[in-house]
Amino acid sequence: DLGSSLRGALDGLRGKSRISEEDVQAVVKEIQRSLLQADVDVDLVMDLSDSIETRALEEEPPAGTSARDWVLRIVYEELVELVGESTELPLEPQTIVLAGLQGSGKTTSAAKIAWWFSKKGLRPAVIQTDTWRPGAYEQAEEMAERAEVDFYGDPDEDDAVKIAREGLEATADADVQIVDTAGRHALEDGLIDELEDIESVADPDHNLLVLDAAIGQEAKEQASRFEGAVGIDGVVITKLDGTAKGGGALAAVNETDSTIAFLGTGETVKDVERFEPSGFISRLLGMGDLKQLTERVERAMEETQEEEGDWGPEDMLDGEFTLKDMRKQMEAMNKMGPLDQVMDMIPGLGGGMMDQLPDDAMDVTQERMRDFEVIMDSMTDDELENPRQIGRSRTERIARGSGKPEERIRELLEQHKMMDRTLNQFQGMGDADMERMMKQ
Ligand code: GDP
Ligand code: MG
Repeated sequence: DLGSSLRGALDGLRGKSRISEEDVQAVVKEIQRSLLQADVDVDLVMDLSDSIETRALEEEPPAGTSARDWVLRIVYEELVELVGESTELPLEPQTIVLAGLQGSGKTTSAAKIAWWFSKKGLRPAVIQTDTWRPGAYEQAEEMAERAEVDFYGDPDEDDAVKIAREGLEATADADVQIVDTAGRHALEDGLIDELEDIESVADPDHNLLVLDAAIGQEAKEQASRFEGAVGIDGVVITKLDGTAKGGGALAAVNETDSTIAFLGTGETVKDVERFEPSGFISRLLGMGDLKQLTERVERAMEETQEEEGDWGPEDMLDGEFTLKDMRKQMEAMNKMGPLDQVMDMIPGLGGGMMDQLPDDAMDVTQERMRDFEVIMDSMTDDELENPRQIGRSRTERIARGSGKPEERIRELLEQHKMMDRTLNQFQGMGDADMERMMKQ
């Protein structure tokens, strides 16, 4: 599925310290595929792609962030930017008018939103003003009953504006008054006029535009008509329990410069959720645990920031580089990523110099690292401080003590020597470089 190919593209970044244009493009391509499939407007997808590419290539990842995590974070932030935050709906008395085409789910949403507010301890009422659709009154009344909320309607009256006015008076005791309106197939002028009149009578705190999740490219035009008529400050996306992902509605959000308030996820009054960016994004991309992934990134970054006081690259340049330093560095590497990446973060030392080193100079694989830890546990303090004194007989002793082959111990000593040599190169740096580094 789509989520897994995006995950695949992100996994392609695993273990990489530098992000190439091709890497970013592979990720962006998968995101584009997912979003277009979810009916997101092409222009929005292109804008998002540009932002992700620019940021991933131009911005410096914070210390301790791997390429994969960094790109994932940018992708997530830009997607949140695209879908927006949830419409603010304070839990206080207010009036809401629902607008939208026939069949979009207004009447169902009116009852759902009323039910939602009632669960928050407020007293809601639904006012039904649809005089066009046969059975609209009965449908709304029945749903309000299921939601156990106040209801007003008048099946014998055909003046929708009058019903609205009387309904608002009749339900004045309610905290939240939700006015359901009529909607016909096309955006006829008569309908828009009626909506405008109801809106001026109700003087609502929120005009919510109700959109079917299956809405495609026509969302933009619809939204601009309703925006022009009454001003839209929130969107309700219905029928998300179906196959449609609701991406089309984002064009409406963008067009009206509004946000998403609620999601409808079924036919009963309880099938309603407050919009929440991460869940919606996961649904859009078909990636179930995006939030979890990004939380992991956040956590890793926080941890790194906390631990930076304990160990920083500057410590390696501070006097003799011992096995104890190497061990600390290996521990830090677990959190901060590969050493070459850590060194890249130091201004003045970055890319060029590290690229000239032999590939394996800084390469300590997880498995070797674990062996090295065990080996160092079998060394004396003196040996850890002065590894150069470790000859053949000490190596044999350490091998017996650690249960690791002598070969591994020689590897460890070789690795230490290589790192020591590398660090000596850096020690020739001027004071200005050092100062900059300390500030990192
Ligand atoms: P209105 O014409 O805008 O008032 O739309 P309605 O509220 O009458 O809904 C039209 C149809 O869509 C009805 O059959 C509803 O049961 C159905 N519907 C509305 N919201 C949802 C939803 O979130 N999920 C599903 N599956 N059906 C919905
Ligand atoms: Mg209706």
